[in-house]
Amino acid sequence: MALIVHKYGGTSMGSTERIKSVAQRVAKWVRAGHQLVVVPSAMSGETNRLLGLARELMPQASTPEVLRELDAVAATGEQVSVGLLALALQAQGVPAVSYGGWQVPVRTDSAHTKARITSIDDKRVRADLAKGWVVIITGFQGIDEAGNVTTLGRGGSDTSAVAVAAALKADECLIYTDVDGVYTTDPRIVPQARRLNSISFEEMLEMASLGSKVLQIRSVEFAGKYRVPLRVLSSFTPWDLALEEEARSGTLITFEEDEKMEQAVVAGIAFNRDEAKISVIGVPDKPGIAYQILGPVADANIDIDVIIQNMSHSGRTDFSFTVHRNDYARTMEVLRQQVVPALAATDVVGDPKICKVSIVGIGMRSHVGVASKMFRTLSEEGINIQMITTSEIKTSVVIDEKYMELAVRALHKAFGLDEEQAAVGGLETR
Ligand code: ASP
Ligand code: MG
Repeated sequence: MALIVHKYGGTSMGSTERIKSVAQRVAKWVRAGHQLVVVPSAMSGETNRLLGLARELMPQASTPEVLRELDAVAATGEQVSVGLLALALQAQGVPAVSYGGWQVPVRTDSAHTKARITSIDDKRVRADLAKGWVVIITGFQGIDEAGNVTTLGRGGSDTSAVAVAAALKADECLIYTDVDGVYTTDPRIVPQARRLNSISFEEMLEMASLGSKVLQIRSVEFAGKYRVPLRVLSSFTPWDLALEEEARSGTLITFEEDEKMEQAVVAGIAFNRDEAKISVIGVPDKPGIAYQILGPVADANIDIDVIIQNMSHSGRTDFSFTVHRNDYARTMEVLRQQVVPALAATDVVGDPKICKVSIVGIGMRSHVGVASKMFRTLSEEGINIQMITTSEIKTSVVIDEKYMELAVRALHKAFGLDEEQAAVGGLETR
């Protein structure tokens, strides 16, 4: 008997029909003798609908008071889901009980709309499990010290599920979703993309932060910190699929890197079109300049991603960085109004139509020439690289948005990730 956490995404919970199928799947695991905790998302589209209603009444402001009420509204989507799923299980003759985050409780900090989980009380849940009940806990929401309902940010149910699994020391956390695992890249862009049987936790962390939308990044961080065994798998297989087969399907996020016999150098290609590039031209090259440029940007609560500063010519240099595209206009304004006059810089120029494409793989640690192969591939396609950034296990380039798909396809092929190459490439495949 194992303690298993199942997480179901919005599409998996999208209708009463789908909820019934979730209940049948959960019941199958219970009948096989396992203890089950289930963390569902709101029904698909529901969170958008709720936030849309809220924004009809309060279009712009994001004061703490407004954010508090946005959470109060958005959290109701998951509240409905847990109750419906408990009923669906009871209808199958499986005892089940639902809890909102505040009932468990799932404690968070008070950062409304992007709260972080600080602790989860497992007493109530354990008592129910001991009675043989299925426990269903809302994803996405929690409660702060003062008793306010909070939410964890979009896609936050993944993090709820992993946190619950960590708190209960569950044997495995299964993330059921509308894709059947983690792919070498987005199959909508590269039809030859392959599902990975396994991916290391570090690679998954990079893939999630670089734009792969399969898991919320915080859930991967959480899984890493507490070593929660995590698997991403499809909720669209027949619910009565043999349990042994289901338990082996999808993509396992592993911690034992060397267990994999043949490690591909590059595990996947990630991309992100949500960025914008900004350059401050002709800034003096002297101590404190990076701080004087990025300080006001950070004070405006704007996250910075890639940063480049080159050597100077005759005492002046250019300073470039990227921000989320939504923050582009605001960043330009901060720079024009505060930074350029303060530094006597020549100008600020920007381009919101860029994207970032990245290759990710722990094999990059032990192989040379990986980055140069990336650059050669892009040059053969005539794609100009505007910025480059690297870490131990990834290399990212910023390029013109209009070449994104071309770049992803070319790199996917060049690194031997295409489906038909897999047989000869000796890569792990489905
Ligand atoms: N329902 C929330 C959202 O749509 C949380 C989640 O589904 O993970 O973002
Ligand atoms: Mg999701």
